[in-house]
Amino acid sequence: MTIPLKRNLLAVAQRNYYPSLFVNFSASVGIALIFAEAGESWVWTWLGLVTTMTVARIVWFEAIEVKAAELETLEEGEAIWRLRHLAAGTLCGAALWMVFTWYGLAVADQRQQYTACIIATAMAAGAVGVLAQYPVAGRFYILMIILPASARLVTNAEPEPILALLGLIFAGVMLSGHRANSKVLMDSIRLRGRNAALVEEVMRTNQDLERRVTERTRTLSRQAHQDQLTGLANRRGLRRSFANWVADGGSSAKLLFLDLDRFKQINDGFGHAAGDEVLRTVAMRIRRVCGRDAVELARWGGDEFICLVKWPDDQSCSIGSLADAISQALAEPIKIDDMICQSMASIGIAAYPQDATDLEELINRADLASCEAKRQGRGQYRIYDRCFAEALERQATIARDLDEAMTNGELSLAYQPIVSARSGELQAFEALLRWQHPDLGMIPPDEFVAVAEETDQIGPLGRWVIERACGEVSRWIAVNGPVRIAVNVSVRQLLVDSFASHVMETLEHYRLRPADLEIEVTESAFASSHEAQVLLALRALDDAGVTIAIDDFGTGYSSLSRLKDYPVHRLKIDRSFVADESDKTRSVIEAAVLIAKRYGLAIVAEGIETTEQARLIASMGADEFQGYLIRRPGLLTVSGLTAPWLDGPKSARSAA
Ligand code: C2E
Ligand code: MG
Ligand code: MG
Repeated sequence: MTIPLKRNLLAVAQRNYYPSLFVNFSASVGIALIFAEAGESWVWTWLGLVTTMTVARIVWFEAIEVKAAELETLEEGEAIWRLRHLAAGTLCGAALWMVFTWYGLAVADQRQQYTACIIATAMAAGAVGVLAQYPVAGRFYILMIILPASARLVTNAEPEPILALLGLIFAGVMLSGHRANSKVLMDSIRLRGRNAALVEEVMRTNQDLERRVTERTRTLSRQAHQDQLTGLANRRGLRRSFANWVADGGSSAKLLFLDLDRFKQINDGFGHAAGDEVLRTVAMRIRRVCGRDAVELARWGGDEFICLVKWPDDQSCSIGSLADAISQALAEPIKIDDMICQSMASIGIAAYPQDATDLEELINRADLASCEAKRQGRGQYRIYDRCFAEALERQATIARDLDEAMTNGELSLAYQPIVSARSGELQAFEALLRWQHPDLGMIPPDEFVAVAEETDQIGPLGRWVIERACGEVSRWIAVNGPVRIAVNVSVRQLLVDSFASHVMETLEHYRLRPADLEIEVTESAFASSHEAQVLLALRALDDAGVTIAIDDFGTGYSSLSRLKDYPVHRLKIDRSFVADESDKTRSVIEAAVLIAKRYGLAIVAEGIETTEQARLIASMGADEFQGYLIRRPGLLTVSGLTAPWLDGPKSARSAA
């Protein structure tokens, strides 16, 4: 940075101008009076000149003076020009002193001579400090006052060489003093300039620092409230927006909890980068659909999103239509490189303030509703209902107590007979799991088996069933002779490598033949995602001589033609078909029986409740019956078996 030296010198010059002019004028008046008193009349002319000069200098100074406020912006060139003018005025003053000393020291009176000398030296001495701002003119000033005086002192009729010499020595000292003062002044200006620059630099750095700190604080705050991947709010951001919205008088809103369906499969199958892309796209689409009404849109967890939308009580459209719009937007295929992904979400909806006024509670409720949506088939929405919470609590109790139930005798097996449609003779028992819970009472197997599947407790539970069924049936066979025991097996059990070997070990342990056991699996076992593993387990069992039945046939939409690819021996037609008396359903049963026969499979009709059903389905070609008509599930015994569809009131006979 260049320091505006001349501008600063001008400031000093302006400051010193009047004081020095005043000193100059008063000295002039003083000496004029002394000389006039001694009869030197020429001195009046000189004083007249000094006065004129002083007035001229005042006028000129007033004309060119730069006010303090304008000094800051004055160009250096301008400052030099003004400095020169002021210096010229000072030199004019010196010129008049030159005239005075020349004439004044020529007078004979020594008192006046000395007075003139003293005043001249005093003026020159004053210039050492007062004219430090004029490095050149200042020196001229000193010389112009001293040199003529010294010259006059040696050229007088009565010369004063010593005084003249002293004058010269003084001049030398004053010149060097002036030089030093000038230098000190310049240095101090430069230093002040540098200090100012330094201060400015420090201020700038401070400002820059402040700006950077503010920016950083803003970024940190944004990061603290925003999800980095999607740009939506994170949990903290959502909490803040909710609190602000409530504080601003927000009175009615809906909270939509979106849980992406099968996101784990996308992540596992396509990779995490693709998973991230899906999340970003989902966020974008949610923003597109809800942006207008949103209090806040947030990513709550891995694949969970929240839309908190303003929803006045008199809102014309239903919240369901917004949920549908979100579902539709999400269902659009997502293209990542050359792959196509599709995301769906199970959406749960809770209302503020009806369902909860606390955000966490509101989210909990919407989450419950989304679990319910997921349970009912994914890709749907559900509006929160109090019974969801009860259902979930019950599920949690079931999951928690199941392990203990196996060891403390709460579980048992009920046996339902399967009889020949033609003769009514006992063919098999199906083992059906029962749980008498100390608090919840009798829990239906459908319910707790589903929980066991979800919580991976199905492995030990399934093993318990096979062992218990084999143990009880082996004792029954020992007394009554051979009978088939049908055990329900969940797909997850088949996916465990050791399943077939465990079955064989159990049979061996209870001295049962493989043909005594039948495994019932549902059509879901043939879903393509785990086809190979399931096939491997079923083939191992089939090779060993265990028979396999497809349970609840007709409910899983599996293709009949694929039956030949599996080692299946029996089809159990689901009781919903038996109960439905429409012609269409009857045709389905007929077709199923026909195809099954072609593949050499036996047909069991489940859920036979009436004699008419039994007769009709027997006429279609079913081989075996199971249902309340024959007997409800109960003890492992043949007592109570009936077969009223056979001619006359005839009791079914034991196979034993
Ligand atoms: P499932 O294998 O189809 O069992 C037949 C179900 O139909 C039994 O219900 C039985 O009580 C019922 N049922 C039998 N005859 C009739 C009838 O005439 N009318 C009506 N309305 N129902 C009849 P349950 O015992 O409640 O079992 C339900 C389901 O739970 C079973 O269906 C099976 O899928 C599952 N389950 C039962 N025990 C086990 C098990 O040990 N392991 C596995 N994985 N699942 C089991
Ligand atoms: Mg079954
Ligand atoms: Mg069934």
